[in-house]
Amino acid sequence: MQDIFENFGIYLHVPFCAGSCGYCRFYKRIPTPELFDRYADAVALEINLRKNENGGFLPRPQTMFWGGGSPSMLPERHIERIAAAFGELTPSLEWSVEVAPTNATRQKLAALKSAGATRISMGVQSFNEKTLASLGRKHSLKATVEAVGRVAEAGFKHFSIDLIFGAKGQTPDEWLADIETAAACPVDHISAYCLEFESATSACGGNSPDGEIPDADGLFLEIAQSRLPELGFHQYEISNYAKPGAQCLHNLSTWHMAQWLGLGPSAASQWRGRRARNAPDFEKWETGIKSGMPSECDIVALDDAEMFSSALIFGLRMNEGVSLSLLSKRFPKADAQKYAPAIDFLKSQRLIEESGENIRLTPKGRLVADAVAVELL
Ligand code: SF4
Repeated sequence: MQDIFENFGIYLHVPFCAGSCGYCRFYKRIPTPELFDRYADAVALEINLRKNENGGFLPRPQTMFWGGGSPSMLPERHIERIAAAFGELTPSLEWSVEVAPTNATRQKLAALKSAGATRISMGVQSFNEKTLASLGRKHSLKATVEAVGRVAEAGFKHFSIDLIFGAKGQTPDEWLADIETAAACPVDHISAYCLEFESATSACGGNSPDGEIPDADGLFLEIAQSRLPELGFHQYEISNYAKPGAQCLHNLSTWHMAQWLGLGPSAASQWRGRRARNAPDFEKWETGIKSGMPSECDIVALDDAEMFSSALIFGLRMNEGVSLSLLSKRFPKADAQKYAPAIDFLKSQRLIEESGENIRLTPKGRLVADAVAVELL
């Protein structure tokens, strides 16, 4: 396989969800049959638009990720239609789809499998009824257990479960039980997000702005970091644990600052020297696509300095850490020396350590990852 930072991925945002989770930060709409039709039409147009840009060349992606919202809300015929629009752009290595326990039906899972999806990521969040209620999740424990069984039966190559900790009233013992129940499911990957930081950053930095570890969240993170490896799931990023060979390649390539193209409303791209986000508004996005002029926001031209900084900060979130000399080779015009004082300081605080050619967060550093990032900015 080529170096992961050479990866090209496609992210499809499916903006449908009827949920009302208090912590939700994703762009979403309550679906209707009419909106499903318009969405599938516009995605097919967007795929064609991107295929025909720049002399009509769009490489085949190694990875694809359908996130949301809840992609599993899409009716089967829309799943099939969108998959067909990708055509030769079906990814060569990994195709992940997020599903919700309430709508992961046998028919939808079969449609995804026959389209070529290889990996299911299910938003379980908790196996505890009280915690699910506190998170505002609509699915019951019974619905979750049945949905896990259906995904396992469908026979995807990889199966991941998302858990959330830090819900109001959740105890460390309940969190430990969630972890152990998830690990006993037929899955090879578990993501464990911190509720407080899920709302802000989608990942558990587990830190307050001054770098102090909040006691409860630090304890919950430590429970995950110590128990999941004992159960065969090895941490490879602050919020992610996998059995050997089951890491999410799409997310890994994102943290390595590879390239990806985002499709659908609110989807972000890092592609051909720029970052940009599709308008987080269904109508604006659809109108832009229909007129052949995608409506974008948050546009940033990428230079070596920006890419070095992002690759350093996201690279540190991974347990293997990051090689400064490799980053200097990838982004030669960046001033690597400017990070030396901050790195020395973080080493003196035992938040960063050397590991072979790489620097990486220490276990203590992983509890305050966002504060470490602030120090490096
Ligand atoms: S299920 Fe996901 S997309 Fe829907 S409201 Fe909850 S967090 Fe947001």
